[in-house]
Amino acid sequence: MVERVTEYAVVSYDDRRIGYDLLVTVPLNMGADYVAASGLGDELNHVPVDRNTLRANGYDNIFALGDANDVPTSKAGSVAHVEAELFADALAARLHGRPARVDFDGHANCFVECGDGRALLIDFNYDTEPLPGRYPLPGLGPFSLLRPTRLNHWGKRAFRWVYWHALLPGRPLPVPARMSMAGKHVPEEVAS
Ligand SMILES: Cc1cc2nc3c(=O)[nH]c(=O)nc-3n(C[C@H](O)[C@H](O)[C@H](O)COP(=O)(O)OP(=O)(O)OC[C@H]3O[C@@H](n4cnc5c(N)ncnc54)[C@H](O)[C@@H]3O)c2cc1C
Repeated sequence: MVERVTEYAVVSYDDRRIGYDLLVTVPLNMGADYVAASGLGDELNHVPVDRNTLRANGYDNIFALGDANDVPTSKAGSVAHVEAELFADALAARLHGRPARVDFDGHANCFVECGDGRALLIDFNYDTEPLPGRYPLPGLGPFSLLRPTRLNHWGKRAFRWVYWHALLPGRPLPVPARMSMAGKHVPEEVAS
């Protein structure tokens, strides 16, 4: 019989105590020190912003993008990319005297490696949890949403090339900045 070791425990701020044998934990994801040093950050070193316009609360001319802001979506490269794309267009329009505002919907898109040569692909925003379906071409894919497949894994591997040769040089990607419902299936239990 294996005896349970209980000498270790995690204790929460409200004094709940959970014993464990093996603890796998993820450290608190804090923002950068320079955000704290700027005086713009909250207690997690993120700049509080309007979640759609990315404008820092209380300031007309300060915007925070990517890992620096506190919007309720993933801290991910795809989020930083989409925010930057929308922000750059709006900034260019304003500099040319045209009215424009950033309208970020929380769009995030991530491959998630699952092991065994398979990966998931998730595509979601503030209002829509990851759904099953095909991506980026509705019905065709070639990637599958929310399902571990080998093709998704190879898509993740191929993304390395896309990163260096398309994203870094700033070439536009044929993927919409705002999340699309095309190709997504809403399961009945979610729809009802
Ligand atoms: C280990 C790891 C794995 C990840 N894997 C993934 C993944 O698979 N997919 C995904 O989508 N995302 C992933 N992410 C998250 C992704 O890397 C970040 O969300 C993304 O890089 C944020 O972009 P950013 O431009 O906001 O910040 P950053 O990429 O952090 O850029 C900030 C830049 O500011 C510079 N800087 C800092 N201080 C100063 C200063 N005082 N003056 C001037 N410059 C300064 C830094 O050097 C840095 O270049 C991962 C992150 C980590 C740490």
